[in-house]
Amino acid sequence: MSWVCPDWLEGLPPLAVPYAVDAPLAGFTTIKVGGCAEVLAEVSGWEEMTALMAAKPVGVPLTIVGRGSNMVVADGGIGGLVVHVGKGCDVVLTEQDGAGFKEKLDSSFRWNDASSLSSLVYAEAGADSGKAARAARDAGLTGLEFFGGIPGSIGGVLRMNAGAYGHETFDDLQKVWVLDAQGVEREMVPAELKPRYRGTELPAGWVYKAGLWKLREGDKEAIRERMREINTARRTSQPLHMPSSGSWFKNVVLDATAWRDFSVLLGFRSACTDVYTCGAQPAQNEKIPDHAAHPGIRLLDDGGAVVSAWRMVDAAGCRGWREGGAQVSEQHCNFFVNAGLAEGKSATAADLDGLSKRVEAEIKAKLGVVMEREVRFTGVDIVA
Ligand SMILES: Cc1cc2nc3c(=O)[nH]c(=O)nc-3n(C[C@H](O)[C@H](O)[C@H](O)COP(=O)(O)OP(=O)(O)OC[C@H]3O[C@@H](n4cnc5c(N)ncnc54)[C@H](O)[C@@H]3O)c2cc1C
Repeated sequence: MSWVCPDWLEGLPPLAVPYAVDAPLAGFTTIKVGGCAEVLAEVSGWEEMTALMAAKPVGVPLTIVGRGSNMVVADGGIGGLVVHVGKGCDVVLTEQDGAGFKEKLDSSFRWNDASSLSSLVYAEAGADSGKAARAARDAGLTGLEFFGGIPGSIGGVLRMNAGAYGHETFDDLQKVWVLDAQGVEREMVPAELKPRYRGTELPAGWVYKAGLWKLREGDKEAIRERMREINTARRTSQPLHMPSSGSWFKNVVLDATAWRDFSVLLGFRSACTDVYTCGAQPAQNEKIPDHAAHPGIRLLDDGGAVVSAWRMVDAAGCRGWREGGAQVSEQHCNFFVNAGLAEGKSATAADLDGLSKRVEAEIKAKLGVVMEREVRFTGVDIVA
């Protein structure tokens, strides 16, 4: 499917980088899949962004692309206006940046306790999350180390409430700036965005502009070391050499009954005796980190458990499954990779969707669990 120049394009303001019609989007995503944007705009600053949003006719859909690391673009592309938010919208500031930092906060944020300024990190949507992690580290602030290994933008981590290693984006967030559907800037407190596991409730057509995190003082060398550890852990456990969108499915929360049935299925304990049958097992209400005997499972106080998605995929026997150019990674089976790209025949979004549906059906049939996708399918011909 190819897009033709739409009438509404005439009404949009001129930008530093010209609009592109029928613009390929695969290169804007980390999994390198999908069709074209009807119109692609690469904004070079917030003034352009607000002018664009104010001029966009109501009814023309707006899609924001950050680093495209949690997005599969449909093979038929994305209709309406697609805006890539990156350079020019990527300011990251701490108190070490002096007057610029204070001005930024004074204009839109009344901070009563001046001494607390030293604990704040301000980051705009177009910045890499890693840039915010490094700024926090250089200011001797701890709490954003986990951002270092997430290949997203600040807009993307806010939208997804991205998380890793026990932390989530909204944990230490104090303030959020958004643009509403008309491009008008608003300040919001994080709770208004209703953050949940891998999601927030930003109204349709609104855009995350920036966030402000309040962190804790820490030892710079220890923070640096933690970031190194996280990077090493990712390099050894994730297929970073292959195009992917990171974790494909969300982790699963099982209530006490479901966890009981599931642990019997996995052979952890027998149905009749309630005695664990493999490895040293913790008491059922003991909160544990990953345990050698059952990695990827965390027991909850209420008798339920959080089961990592990879554990579900693995238990259902789907590791390595393939459809066209799409494959369930052998290395980390909650990563779906575009294995076809290196072979000269890239996966399509339909391959990924088809593979996902097969894996979902297998997990449902074998384990009785309904999986939810973390990756966002976006565009005209796929509804996840
Ligand atoms: C190798 C790898 C490892 C990963 N590890 C993790 C991990 O540990 N934890 C984790 O949570 N995720 C992880 N991810 C997934 C991904 O990096 C995160 O979800 C990240 O937050 C996405 O940011 P992005 O800028 O790439 O968003 P995109 O993929 O560009 O967009 C994601 C969604 O957010 C919307 N969006 C983006 N920017 C804005 C904005 N400014 N305003 C409004 N909406 C916006 C998009 O429209 C889309 O719906 C990983 C991905 C990869 C490839």
